[in-house]
Amino acid sequence: MSLSVLDLYTIGIGPSSSHTVGPMRAGNRFVMRLAEAGLLEQTVRVEAHLYGSLALTGKGHGTDKAVLLGLEGETPEAVDVDAVPAKIEAIRTQNRLRLGGRHEIAFHEKEDLLFHRTESLPEHSNGMSFIARGADGGELMKRVYYSIGGGFVVNEQTAKRDELKPDARVLPHPFRHGDDLLRLGRETGLSVSEITLRNESAWRPEAETRAALLKVWKAMHACVERGCHHEGTLPGGLKVERRAPKIFRELSTNPEAGLRDPLTVLDWVSLWAMAVNEENASGGRVVTAPTNGAAGIIPAVLHYFVRVHGGADDDRITRFLLTAAAIGMIYKINASISGAEVGCQGEVGVACSMAAGALCEALGGTVPQVENAAEIGMEHNLGLTCDPIGGLVQVPCIERNAMGAVKAINAARLALRGDGTHRVSLDKVIATMRTTGADMSTKYKETSRGGLAVNVTEC
Ligand code: SF4
Repeated sequence: MSLSVLDLYTIGIGPSSSHTVGPMRAGNRFVMRLAEAGLLEQTVRVEAHLYGSLALTGKGHGTDKAVLLGLEGETPEAVDVDAVPAKIEAIRTQNRLRLGGRHEIAFHEKEDLLFHRTESLPEHSNGMSFIARGADGGELMKRVYYSIGGGFVVNEQTAKRDELKPDARVLPHPFRHGDDLLRLGRETGLSVSEITLRNESAWRPEAETRAALLKVWKAMHACVERGCHHEGTLPGGLKVERRAPKIFRELSTNPEAGLRDPLTVLDWVSLWAMAVNEENASGGRVVTAPTNGAAGIIPAVLHYFVRVHGGADDDRITRFLLTAAAIGMIYKINASISGAEVGCQGEVGVACSMAAGALCEALGGTVPQVENAAEIGMEHNLGLTCDPIGGLVQVPCIERNAMGAVKAINAARLALRGDGTHRVSLDKVIATMRTTGADMSTKYKETSRGGLAVNVTEC
């Protein structure tokens, strides 16, 4: 399997890449398949079945709304986030749904959108199936999809790792492991970002890759800005107050504090991360990087690089995102970026590792130092569980992004103090993360059945 950097960053909608972005894509894909088969107009009823983690925490993660929007033909990239509440309200009050935005059918959410909380589908804990029925009640089409993290959706056939279709793309510098990056660095003298940029030429011309990554940065920056100014309480019933606007006001009106306390920069980093995740929790426009739950870490560390280290030019920003994506790909290929599969180490841990490696290169690190930084970023997130209170991507998720961003900066700085020599390789830490995730009780894998989710009352 070859991945592009643009698979790691998608401009989408909160609050969850696996529980919102993925299910919306799946609903949309099902409707497209119906249309391709000429069955859209014959469909009078659609059933959506959610299983495993999607059923257990789907309500809190907006999976129900995402499925409805996907069936209406919306995509995470293009949906008008401001229009979503009215659109959902219309479907629910009228009990009507426009499949693919054009074929209207009756849709009764209680009967047609079903949460199977005690059942799981075989290939992944985020399973779902869609069934289209004709006028006689017979099945016109059924499809099973899995939302495997980061907004990726696979069907029943491609869900098994060993059945992934071989990619015919020929990359100039293919890599699957951290060791490959180290070898390529030695053989070619190229940086991680340069290796990755050259590989992207297998997908599109370099200018297009650069333009797409700057668009990603622009979306990240806009998300931080919105998060710094949106006041109020987050949706979902936990009554979590947004903290970013208050911290932003305090930091902006008291610049002298930064002179007295050099660690004030950490408050800014925490602010940038939390601003993104508060936007995410409210269903706003965010960049999946590599997931929504962990979407604040890379923007926060990139803001730190831009604001504190003068990294505000297009080439340096592009290279930061390329290096981070290269590291994310290695996790995606060899382990997982899904909280439902390996716990929060696969979300916040991976984002921390990606940001650490990217910052290390941006600050002048060699390929071995970058590999070291990425390894440190994960090593100290190993075993991190996923236990969101109330199934909402709020507590501990928002604050955890601030912690992950600060840890990434620390990891990069530590790696830059060494020469890249270290005991635990990135590949070893990724293998450890994968096996730790496999051993982890399902209570701690985005089911809200363990940890903080059961030890803290919801109100
Ligand atoms: S605890 Fe981590 S993995 Fe779980 S929803 Fe929150 S950010 Fe995602």
